[in-house]
Amino acid sequence: MQQIESLIRAVPDFPKPGVVFRDITPLLADAGGFARCIDALAEPWQGSGVQAVCGIESRGFIFGAALAQKLHAGFVPLRKPGKLPPPVVHIDYELEYGVDRLEARNDALHANERVLIVDDVLATGGTMAAARALVERLGAKLVGASVVIELAALQGRARWRDDGAMLQALLR
Ligand code: 5GP
Repeated sequence: MQQIESLIRAVPDFPKPGVVFRDITPLLADAGGFARCIDALAEPWQGSGVQAVCGIESRGFIFGAALAQKLHAGFVPLRKPGKLPPPVVHIDYELEYGVDRLEARNDALHANERVLIVDDVLATGGTMAAARALVERLGAKLVGASVVIELAALQGRARWRDDGAMLQALLR
């Protein structure tokens, strides 16, 4: 885990003053580190019957697609508005300033399909909560979620309903 942590760069004042951005691109560029990261993300879900991994745009696509392969599951992108052809379903969610939206194809998941949601970073938890609502609106069964980094100071985990669906974070 220490090796994975050392491959994540903390960039002060990006994208705006006062924010410390966690840059995961050095981790992706390191073959061994990336492989170990995917192995560690997959570990708690082995044998849990995950059928689809839903990755959140955009960095969730990278970790999610690799994890789907590892778990022998399909991959479903949860996208920013206007990227997917219709028909789509959407969930709107609040940002610090304004609102954003996540969309999925309306037939992307089937009823009770066992789903794992993946993203790179859990910050305030708003994006993850929206992804969860979208998966549930599609009638799938949420098994849990994985993130590489949880920014614990932002208390995003408080927005996660812990009703048997686990939220896994590799680094805090
Ligand atoms: P939240 O909705 O939890 O506040 O923000 C999480 C979303 O914003 C994730 O989709 C994540 O990709 C992005 N995000 C927020 N902060 C960071 C950061 O420091 N580094 C990276 N790579 N993504 C971030």
